[in-house]
Amino acid sequence: MSEGMDHHSITRRRFLRFSLTAVGGVVALRPRWSAAQDEKKEDSKPEGSRSASRPARWAFLSDTHIAGDPEDNYRSFYPYRNLQKAFTQIASDLPEGLVVTGDIARLTGQMEDYENFKKLLVPLVGRRPIYVALGNHDDREHFLDVFETPAAQKLAVKGKHIVTVDAGPVRFILLDSLFSTNETMGLLGKAQRTWLQRYLQTSDDKPVLLFFHHSLRDDDGDLQDLPRLFDIIKPVAQVKAIVYGHSHEYGFSDFEGIHLINLPAVAFNFGDDQPIGWVEARLGREGGEFVLHAIGGNTDQDGRARRLRWRS
Ligand SMILES: [Zn+2]
Repeated sequence: MSEGMDHHSITRRRFLRFSLTAVGGVVALRPRWSAAQDEKKEDSKPEGSRSASRPARWAFLSDTHIAGDPEDNYRSFYPYRNLQKAFTQIASDLPEGLVVTGDIARLTGQMEDYENFKKLLVPLVGRRPIYVALGNHDDREHFLDVFETPAAQKLAVKGKHIVTVDAGPVRFILLDSLFSTNETMGLLGKAQRTWLQRYLQTSDDKPVLLFFHHSLRDDDGDLQDLPRLFDIIKPVAQVKAIVYGHSHEYGFSDFEGIHLINLPAVAFNFGDDQPIGWVEARLGREGGEFVLHAIGGNTDQDGRARRLRWRS
C-alpha cells in the first residue's frame, strides 16, 4: 500500500469515525454531531419513564460480512447490497435500536470493511443506537479504532468488547466471543464469565437477553465454554434468552427454559433452505415476539412471527 493510500484511508477513517456516548445509562454508537442533541432529548424524559412497561421494538441482525469491495460476493449473494436493503427496511420504520451479533467484516476485519459498514449505516446513524458484538471474522482493534468506546466499557474486561444496554422493559448484555480473528471457534474466557456472573448478581429483576456471535452446538467452531456459561446463567432467573449468529441459520430452541435464538445471516446463507435477512423483535417483561424479514435465500418464512414466553 502506498503512503498516499494510507493517508487517504486515515482521512476517511476520521471522517467516518463515530463516538460511543453514554446516554441515560445506555451506551450507544452515535455520531459526534448529534450526541449533544440526543442527550438533551433523553434528559427531558423523567427517570424510569423510558417505556419500562411498553414492549421495546428492536432490529436484530447478524453476519453482515461486509468487504472492502462492495461487489464482493459469495454463492451469488452480495453482502453489501443485502445490508443496504436491510438498513433501508429498518430505516423506513425505525425501531428503538439495532443489535448486530458479529461478523461485521467479510473475513479478517480490515479497516475498509468497517468503513463500508459505516457508509451503509448512514440512513440510521444519529437516529437510533447500534450495538455490535464481535465475531470470528472481526478484528477487535480495527473495530475499536473505528467505533470508539468509552474508558469504562473498555475496562469491564481487558481485551474484550462488552456492552450493556437498558432497553426499557428488558436489558441486553453483549458479550465478546471472538477468540482469534479468522479462526472459527469462539470463547468467552474466564475473565468475561466471571464479570458476567458478578454483573448478574448485582442487577435488578429486569429480563436479560444475552448476545454474542458464536453458535451453541458442540462442534469445534462453536462457543467452546458454553457449558460453563450455562452453569452461570441457569440459576439466574432474569436471563431469558441468548441471541446469536455464526451458523447463518435461522432457528429457535431452548435450554432449561432459556430461549436460544439463532439469527439468520444478512450476507449469505450456507444452505439453500435458509433465509437471509434480519429479525424484528418486540420485547416485554413477560416475553417477546420475533418477526423474520427475509430479503433473500429461502423467503418462505418472510413475515412469520414467533412468540416466546420468558421463564419465571
Ligand atoms: Zn458469518
